[in-house]
Amino acid sequence: MRGASAGTTQPLESSGLPVNELSSTGTKNIRTSFRENGPIVLNVNELENGFDPLAEGQAMYRLISQLYPICRSITGDGLRQTLRILQAHIPLELREVPTGTRVFDWTVPKEWNIRDAYVKNSGGERVIDFQKSNLHVVNYSVPVHERLTLAALKEHLFTLPAYPDWIPYRTSYYKESWGFCLSERQLSSLKDGEYEVCIDATLEDGHLTYGEFFLQGETRDEVLISSHACHPSLCNDNLSGVALAVSIARLLESSSRRYSYRFLFIPGTIGAITWLARNEEKIPNIKHGLVLTGVGDAGPLHYKKSRKGTAEIDRVAAHVFQHSGKPCQLLGFSPYGYDERQYCSPGINLSVGRFSRTPHGTFPEYHTSADNLDFVHPDKLGEAFAVCLEMLSILENNATFVNLNPKCEPQLGKRGLYRMIGGQAHAGVSEMAMLWVLNQSDGKNSLLDIAERSEIQFDVIQRAAHVLQEHHLLGKDFKSVPQAAR
Ligand code: ZN
Repeated sequence: MRGASAGTTQPLESSGLPVNELSSTGTKNIRTSFRENGPIVLNVNELENGFDPLAEGQAMYRLISQLYPICRSITGDGLRQTLRILQAHIPLELREVPTGTRVFDWTVPKEWNIRDAYVKNSGGERVIDFQKSNLHVVNYSVPVHERLTLAALKEHLFTLPAYPDWIPYRTSYYKESWGFCLSERQLSSLKDGEYEVCIDATLEDGHLTYGEFFLQGETRDEVLISSHACHPSLCNDNLSGVALAVSIARLLESSSRRYSYRFLFIPGTIGAITWLARNEEKIPNIKHGLVLTGVGDAGPLHYKKSRKGTAEIDRVAAHVFQHSGKPCQLLGFSPYGYDERQYCSPGINLSVGRFSRTPHGTFPEYHTSADNLDFVHPDKLGEAFAVCLEMLSILENNATFVNLNPKCEPQLGKRGLYRMIGGQAHAGVSEMAMLWVLNQSDGKNSLLDIAERSEIQFDVIQRAAHVLQEHHLLGKDFKSVPQAAR
């Protein structure tokens, strides 16, 4: 029931911290994003004002619905068709890497394409039909066309007895074989006799395709956003991640940015390995990254830390989760999962974490036909979008300052920054946040450090720093502060 789930989630809220109460005084119109040379961009506070996560979630849901019917795989025309649809949203470049290309310890596989597949009974009736669901064929099945008995056929059939109405999703990428997936109920209806089996597919030399979109920022330092795009008709894993990456790319495209952003839409595992092997010279530019997948189900948000565990992106995610007021959970790194496995391999060791909802493999719908359009929800997609943007906003705006008046506290009152009788202090800026920023800004502590230590939301700390800069109490010019305690 799509309609029932839509509209039930509020836009991302600020934390319930007392320091944030001032935001109820209409102060959200203050620009809180800043740069050394003036205002910038990506900013959650502004997004809260002029941005509707639910509408974005609905757009993501529409894209998922459009992509859902396509039979994707780690290579082939389904993947290409998917990437071309994404090109209608963002100027994605398609890369083609020939079969046989060595990529570290792996080799780009043959290209798989499928036109049709079925199992017909002796009456000529399609009892298993690829046209009804592309999950019916084991992904990467070699072509076959033969007749065999039910007993022989059963060697090639896969079901989920615990969920008798669901079709499992199976692959056989690196072992040439063939098979069909079907519901347990379908299997039990098959009668003894001879069956005609046909998989009209090709597995030949061709290419591995992936999509890449690079968005230049003010610096060469990059944020990597990666999602796998190789699963057929499955929504949460992986179309929700694809849709989230597209939405983020579209928004960032129209913002000014400190960081450059690189979006990868790749086949799982082999795609990440292929990109890394072909772009080793670019790896040092990647300062932060997120693998996006499984963000549309109704479960709590999860962030899996990078291999480093204390990378800035890991701390940002922890901070956002801590202040989100929503059920969410941090996971430690493990060498199992999605493409963070490659980005966090020891010879690559990027600061890349994974953002999702319910972790893969821990919900029964995972890799089954039940991961369908009913399993993902526009409001959940929109919420994931808002939280992800909040993380990127912190990355964009985190900076280290120095207190330009470090000997004792500056007199805030004469600047209108402290307890004005009968009114509020400088609109929307927490006094406590100002005190924290002034105290901790010795050129060593970033705004994120200060937010963590004070347990005040980054946005509030950032706003305080902005106002203090405006009043020349905070600066980035370290040389101009000869006596700051450093
Ligand atoms: Zn998967």
